[in-house]
Amino acid sequence: MDKFSREQRSLIMSSVKNKNSKAELRVRYELHRTGYRFRLHRKDLLGKPDIVLPKYKTIIFIHGCFWHRHGCKRTTTPCTNIEYWETKFCKNVSRFNEVKKSLEADGWNVQVIWECESVKTELLKIRLGQIFEDLKPIK
Ligand SMILES: [Zn+2]
Repeated sequence: MDKFSREQRSLIMSSVKNKNSKAELRVRYELHRTGYRFRLHRKDLLGKPDIVLPKYKTIIFIHGCFWHRHGCKRTTTPCTNIEYWETKFCKNVSRFNEVKKSLEADGWNVQVIWECESVKTELLKIRLGQIFEDLKPIK
């Protein structure tokens, strides 16, 4: 049975979501500064991707390390109610794999930036550099 009350759970969720959106803001800021133009949360695409760069036919998801199980030190597991969390994590990961496969089948280049990769500007720049290294704008 679930040990968290509804209120506790929504607190946990919102704190994690906020962190994730901070990561998103950092990535958006850096992309914008570098001159890339993008669209946010396009509802017509599966998974409502965080960032869409139509000119590069590229999609960037910014993943919270906790929710998407990055495996870095931010990937903690709550000590109580393990089964609930494991099911939840499992669903997140397999859902994303489906989304990714389907978007790629439609010709999108799907990239992930992890929350922890966005914290230090220098590292984020390197990561973005990797993503755009071989990409050419579509005319
Ligand atoms: Zn991470």
